[in-house]
Amino acid sequence: MEKPKLVEYKRPKHINDYPTGPTTEGGKLVEKNAGWRTYKPVVDKEKCVNCLRCYLVCPDGVIFKSEGKVDIDYDFCKGCGICEYECKLDAIKMIKEDK
Ligand code: SF4
Ligand code: SF4
Repeated sequence: MEKPKLVEYKRPKHINDYPTGPTTEGGKLVEKNAGWRTYKPVVDKEKCVNCLRCYLVCPDGVIFKSEGKVDIDYDFCKGCGICEYECKLDAIKMIKEDK
């Protein structure tokens, strides 16, 4: 059997070089979390510098890029707050859900 070819690793330099999040097209998550979340993360797009730290630490992979900026898929975000904790610029705030 032929071995799969290794793909050369290229360090991403721009948000557009990163893959999209797993909840977007072809995604794997099937259970929506929005119903039981009590707090949701909101990105301040003025403060955010697109460093993608939040994208890398989100355990559910629900942070994605939209028009060159990070965004959050609220259907699948469980509201854990890790992204807020890890953002060094305080560009993410956990806001109580209206229920
Ligand atoms: S960690 Fe903060 S500054 Fe970096 S991309 Fe996420 S929200 Fe923006
Ligand atoms: S609150 Fe948790 S699940 Fe939601 S975007 Fe932030 S790290 Fe991901």
